[in-house]
Amino acid sequence: PSFEELGLKKELLRGIYSYGFERPSAIQQRALAPALKGRDVIAQAQSGTGKTAMLSIIALNSVDIKTREVQVLILSPTRELAQQTQHTLLSLGEFMNVQCHACIGGKNLGEDIRTLDYGVHVVSGTPGRVFDMIQRRNLRTRSLRLLIIDEADEMLSRGFKEQIYEVYRHLPPSIQVILVSATLPHDVLEMTSKFMTDPVRILV
Ligand code: AMP
Repeated sequence: PSFEELGLKKELLRGIYSYGFERPSAIQQRALAPALKGRDVIAQAQSGTGKTAMLSIIALNSVDIKTREVQVLILSPTRELAQQTQHTLLSLGEFMNVQCHACIGGKNLGEDIRTLDYGVHVVSGTPGRVFDMIQRRNLRTRSLRLLIIDEADEMLSRGFKEQIYEVYRHLPPSIQVILVSATLPHDVLEMTSKFMTDPVRILV
């Protein structure tokens, strides 16, 4: 399908075309439709496939702009990836008035607290800082309806398992989950079986 045929919001469609994308990449072709319908999706894909834009499109399409509460949480293994995702969210969401925040370690806590209290729709962060903000109750989880776990295998090999499970325990139980991983070792599959319901599996 083309981006139009996926039934994306028109302001998002405008952001996608003005960023220069013409057609969905292979992973976008296969993952966007089930994800936009609300299904849980496991995408086995590496960087270079268009996974960041795919995740950003799923996140942006699901946001209700009128509700200024965190609705989408994107977890990444590194600050760089969390910031790259933040950048893609802001670019593709240019015409949406969407508030996105990068919640990453090594930055001033006060800035996180101020921005989260002001109210954002999407948080892109690393597990440690995100969990910290949840525990401090600056990141409110009650309106979250979409959890995105990027580079799940990297995340687990960097020792973030406990933090991801802790974050998950604070989320509404029926939350939609999208997971991207280059490989699917046992600990990633274990996480998919704990967090996901009847997921669609896509291999790119
Ligand atoms: P990623 O897999 O997220 O590292 O993305 C790899 C590159 O593909 C990035 O430079 C993106 O800007 C680009 N890209 C993602 N989706 C598309 C698309 N639908 N059309 C053209 N380029 C794309």
